[in-house]
Amino acid sequence: MTVRPTGTETYSDASTIHRPREIRVERGAAMAGRRRIKADVVVVGTGAGGAVMAKELAEGGLSVVMLEEGEHVTPEDMTARPRDDAPRFYRDAAMISTLGNTPIMLPLGRAVGGTTILNSATCYRTPRALLDRWGLWSAGELEPFFRRVERVFNVCRVPRELAGRNAHAMERGAAALGWSGEYLHRAARGCVGAGVCAFGCPTGGKQHAGNTYVPLAWDAGATTITGARATKVLPGRGVLARTTGGGRLRVDAELVVVACGTIHTPVLLKRSGLGHPGLGENLSLHPATGVWAEHDEPIDQHAGIPQAYAVDEFAGEGIMLEGWSGPPDMLALALACDDDERRAIMRDFRRIAQAGLMIRDSSRGTVRGVAGRAVIRYDVNRADTELIVRAIAKAAELEAAAGARRVHVPIAHARPITTVGEARALQATAKQLGLTAFHPLGTAAAGRVVERDLRLGDGLLVADGSVVPSSLGVNPQLTIMALATRAAFAALGRRAPEDELEGATLGRAPSMIRFAA
Ligand SMILES: Cc1cc2nc3c(=O)[nH]c(=O)nc-3n(C[C@H](O)[C@H](O)[C@H](O)COP(=O)(O)OP(=O)(O)OC[C@H]3O[C@@H](n4cnc5c(N)ncnc54)[C@H](O)[C@@H]3O)c2cc1C
Ligand code: SF4
Repeated sequence: MTVRPTGTETYSDASTIHRPREIRVERGAAMAGRRRIKADVVVVGTGAGGAVMAKELAEGGLSVVMLEEGEHVTPEDMTARPRDDAPRFYRDAAMISTLGNTPIMLPLGRAVGGTTILNSATCYRTPRALLDRWGLWSAGELEPFFRRVERVFNVCRVPRELAGRNAHAMERGAAALGWSGEYLHRAARGCVGAGVCAFGCPTGGKQHAGNTYVPLAWDAGATTITGARATKVLPGRGVLARTTGGGRLRVDAELVVVACGTIHTPVLLKRSGLGHPGLGENLSLHPATGVWAEHDEPIDQHAGIPQAYAVDEFAGEGIMLEGWSGPPDMLALALACDDDERRAIMRDFRRIAQAGLMIRDSSRGTVRGVAGRAVIRYDVNRADTELIVRAIAKAAELEAAAGARRVHVPIAHARPITTVGEARALQATAKQLGLTAFHPLGTAAAGRVVERDLRLGDGLLVADGSVVPSSLGVNPQLTIMALATRAAFAALGRRAPEDELEGATLGRAPSMIRFAA
């Protein structure tokens, strides 16, 4: 075989879900008093970047301890009820917001697996045009590391029959308009289309760092201490942490890997006295939102994969339209209409489709630590405001072409769209937009703050979204994981793997081909 299968059978095969030999978790909740432990490496954070580092370094023969502020959760813990699960796996119950000219909700995960346990599992490689612009890593150099991540994560194409009618509507619209689009590649093993990825997959079918990389690190001898918040990094010497049980922990290690995510890594590093002028600057977010479309036939957005289809026709401009579905209360909050109209629409929820959108932003923000908390400052600039409005219009046009009667847009006081002309005439200020962001990046950017092998001086590596040099325009987990894999290989003094197979359908990642830098 010269390629790795990525079709329906592979996507739906739950028999390959990894079962660790032993769950090597120590709960910080049960740790009081003082404790000191020793390892070769301490990894802070177990998300997309940290889990990959832990697994690769442990498999490379090093003793690894992972510190994670959140808890270890299993599919059995997932109730699929947003009100139960958001406070458990999301930092601050998903209520984090930016400060700036318009608030942007910024959900982050806090659990073993980090934000990957609640993400949509969509996988894109870094657009080649961006790699060329950064000039730090060539596409060829990263290729074996992407393949390796894609194998461990079982990145496969979404089968149309599991995608659900929300995705089918997007596909119909794209076909009618002649726009480029396709079923996404996702990290899945036995996904059944249960539709609640953002609140924790109850089947274990979604592949995330907490059910792949972290268990593989355990199999190689690593340990995870949960409920352990790192408070100080000592490069080349270790990490100090507090446990939720009231304990104080010191891990002595010659190599420290900080992987707390784009928002919390700069706060921890600065708090540790590791000042660098660029740390906490250069924050990009991929501002995102969606439209809600009234169709004649049932859509039943709860049935199917929430993010299954994407339109990349406008990726070159920095616009991606990606499937998105959520619980009814999100729609009720988002609708810009009076109460009677809202009631009528909510009664018809079964017929409402959603299309998500995000932009490759040129705005940049900052992260600062204030009293131990991260304060995120981000203003949406005029060019991005116009790009978001254009993306909203495109999403509305897509749903109209799919047969929607009216499309509701996330702009304060805007009336629902009924014609393409109305969509194209949309205007808004940043303040009028209802925005969320899922992809913070860049606050310890490679080439500015860390080296290209993610080093920040001796005995310290940074491996998470913070090292991504600029806004990607596509979902970032694969980029973060490939860079972490490369950094782990470099730290071990190992050459890139030569035996990783290319995924059968991964050759055409559309935005990689069409994306113009
Ligand atoms: C709803 C949602 C959907 C998304 N969908 C996708 C998608 O489909 N595809 C995609 O590519 N990306 C997606 N993303 C983004 C993706 O999940 C993130 O970009 C990625 O997980 C970031 O990885 P990271 O390693 O930077 O940080 P994280 O994965 O956030 O991990 C950081 C970890 O560090 C821990 N931590 C922080 N501070 C400390 C401390 N002081 N001590 C100990 N532990 C600490 C945190 O608790 C957390 O577990 C989505 C994000 C969201 C919110
Ligand atoms: S669609 Fe359902 S089964 Fe598939 S990954 Fe999401 S939550 Fe899991």
